[in-house]
Amino acid sequence: MSEFIFNEIGIIESPYRQKFAIPRQPGLVPAAKGRIKLSEHCNNLNTLKGIESSSHLWLIFVFHETMDQGWKPMVRPPRLGGNEKMGVFATRTTFRPNPIGMSVVRNEGVYREGKQIYLQISALDLLNGTPILDIKPYLPYSDALMDATTDFTKPSGSDLMTVEFTPLAQQQIQHFNSQYPELLSFIEQVLQQDPRPAYKKNKPDEKTYAMSLYDLNISWRVIANTNQVLEIATTTS
Ligand code: SAM
Repeated sequence: MSEFIFNEIGIIESPYRQKFAIPRQPGLVPAAKGRIKLSEHCNNLNTLKGIESSSHLWLIFVFHETMDQGWKPMVRPPRLGGNEKMGVFATRTTFRPNPIGMSVVRNEGVYREGKQIYLQISALDLLNGTPILDIKPYLPYSDALMDATTDFTKPSGSDLMTVEFTPLAQQQIQHFNSQYPELLSFIEQVLQQDPRPAYKKNKPDEKTYAMSLYDLNISWRVIANTNQVLEIATTTS
């Protein structure tokens, strides 16, 4: 068996600080914005020359947070409620023989801070600190196939939960507005996806949930098909 050793070409700085509540695929939460900090050996504007001509990019990355947990030939995809098994290569599970992920994200532009070069991206589904192995332009003429079919579908309509904010949560969002101007839509888009385990769907739920976005801890509860945001506070407070 051949072995290949790759070095990361960059690291993601993402608002998703824990796996819980990260959407299952990119594009589902457009308000999620992050950036790739290029590694030293690629930290050269020439590596990104011409990238502005592509609105979207493929990111190839390592599922670094779960890679130590190994893999099995069959998995239970969350979208099937954890009841049915499918072959690992028939799914996008993070638990793979080679723990490699791929996501199409929106290209928001290149900039530098001092000597460090960053590539700004949005609509990502990657955990903060994810090592990036490669960046490639998304080619609609080849990558978007109109006759492609699959059982995997984008959640929409009744799949999406409604989201409301208590007066306290609305007040707290105002407080963080200068730091995170899109916080309200970001929280809303994440919670519309219903981050809870699939078996909880359409069941009474007394629990209060919490997720970390940026340095914020956000709690909510579930009332019928509505996620009600209760409180937003910095993780340090
Ligand atoms: N779009 C990618 C793909 O298809 O290869 C990822 C799909 S995977 C089902 C999406 C999940 O990966 C997210 O919900 C998040 O929990 C998890 N994830 C994101 N970054 C990760 C990382 N660095 N290590 C482990 N899991 C990660």
